[in-house]
Amino acid sequence: MTQPPVETRLLIATRNEGKMREIRDLFTGLPFRLVFPVDQFLERLPDEADLERGTSFAENAVAKARYFAKRATIPTMAEDSGLEVDALDGAPGVFSARWAQMHGAGSREGGDDAANNALLLERLAGVPDEQRTARYRCVVAYLDTPLAKPQLVEATCEGRILSQARGSGGFGYDPLFLSSDLGMTFAEAPLPAKQRVSHRGRAIRALVEVLLRRSR
Ligand code: IMP
Repeated sequence: MTQPPVETRLLIATRNEGKMREIRDLFTGLPFRLVFPVDQFLERLPDEADLERGTSFAENAVAKARYFAKRATIPTMAEDSGLEVDALDGAPGVFSARWAQMHGAGSREGGDDAANNALLLERLAGVPDEQRTARYRCVVAYLDTPLAKPQLVEATCEGRILSQARGSGGFGYDPLFLSSDLGMTFAEAPLPAKQRVSHRGRAIRALVEVLLRRSR
């Protein structure tokens, strides 16, 4: 009789609700027991605000993974992700989460996501459809122990920025991101469809494969 796989406890270093929902779903049925900072009683400390000050997704992902791995001392995975718009020379990129805030667009109803999307539409006003190409990028960093060499995986997904929001699912820039793979926005797509083609889905599946291969 085959033994059931032993569950590994894995801390997912994020407090972003949209990411948490998707990551939980991506690990369904796999031999990992996910825990989030809140489950470990890791309250938000002021130094957390400095974790995403790097100049690349990889730098930020490693910084978040190390920070939380040190606090929790269990295997930890972090991801840093964002939207790169070609007509904006790759912006908002690593600044995706706080892009509008950085440009003085104060909080508006709907929070940061609404303000970011409004700024994106403003910056792309008058840009023709064929020049509105963009991609999401995600870098995942995994640490066995706080000082270990990180395992890094990166993935992207291609699309185009619409002139009007479509759909109510997903989070962040999803209502404006028309996926080239799906022919609909990520906010219109059912979760399994987004997960199949998204930057995060691709990166996390690749990491899981590495971790499972190592444990065999
Ligand atoms: P960070 O990785 O916590 O710095 O935040 C990533 C930011 O990029 C999010 O707050 C969103 O604005 C954007 N982003 C990353 N992935 C997605 C996605 O799957 N859908 C929509 N927006 C995303």
